[in-house]
Amino acid sequence: MRVDGRRVWIDSHIHIRGYSPERGPRDFPIEAVTEVLERDPDHLVWVISHSFPETNAITEDPATGLRWSNEGQYRLVQEAPPGRVFGSLAIHPDAVKESREEIDLFGGERGFVQVGEILGYAMGFALDSPEMIEIAKHAAELGLPLQCHCSTSGQPFGNQIRQTIRLAQEVPEAKIIAAHALGGGNSWMHITAAEVYFAMGGENLWLEIRDFNTREYLRAAVERLGAERLIAGTDWIARDDPPFPPYGILFPETDVNEMPYPSCVASLAGFLREAGCTEEDVDRIACRNSIELFGLEGRLAV
Ligand SMILES: [Zn+2]
Repeated sequence: MRVDGRRVWIDSHIHIRGYSPERGPRDFPIEAVTEVLERDPDHLVWVISHSFPETNAITEDPATGLRWSNEGQYRLVQEAPPGRVFGSLAIHPDAVKESREEIDLFGGERGFVQVGEILGYAMGFALDSPEMIEIAKHAAELGLPLQCHCSTSGQPFGNQIRQTIRLAQEVPEAKIIAAHALGGGNSWMHITAAEVYFAMGGENLWLEIRDFNTREYLRAAVERLGAERLIAGTDWIARDDPPFPPYGILFPETDVNEMPYPSCVASLAGFLREAGCTEEDVDRIACRNSIELFGLEGRLAV
């Protein structure tokens, strides 16, 4: 899918702070974000979620931190060019009532398209607790996918992908996204876990690709799971002060001068082709799966 010759590329995993690290007003103008979108020759669309000031505030007090965090994301979405930036809303299972209210307000009235990033490991909860199941059921009523953090490395027991798949199993009507499932050291585990889930009849799981230069993971994922199960989620993060690094940079924010490939959409699409993706596969992963998953038909600036 192209607009004015530019490939439409939707990334569902972008972190931008809505407040300053000191937790005052945001310390950069929206132009700092727009500039990154426009610097790429292709047509970038982002689904954004909270960054560190918000993550800390939610962890300290979920009941009040959630609204504070989601308001900051909402301001970013409102200020961004129409159809280019969509919101992902924060929830926490220690505040189920408030989480339901956030889903209603931001996912319902204010047009956010995802619940996430759900950071069980960082905020100290399991992704498949009874409270999470209740939240997932509520999100499903509004058709909102839930983006669950799955460890990319250093967690050999696979607890997060196990909890993510169990959540998918317990709430089959919910759309569950395994965040950055592909790219890190746990990629084989994630691919195999998803393959078994699909073989058992599971239909409500999608996997994000973080590091597109890991061609062997991509090839295995496309062959074993199918391109229709994969979306782009690079975990790009506006961590320091602007100017922000270009899109396509390797997480966690490699020095742009040390990148092994040009940081842009065209590189990432090229890696998909090198991994054996057909043009149709590339198009699915670049945008078509996400348009369907996040209900973006008619909402993109194309
Ligand atoms: Zn993330």
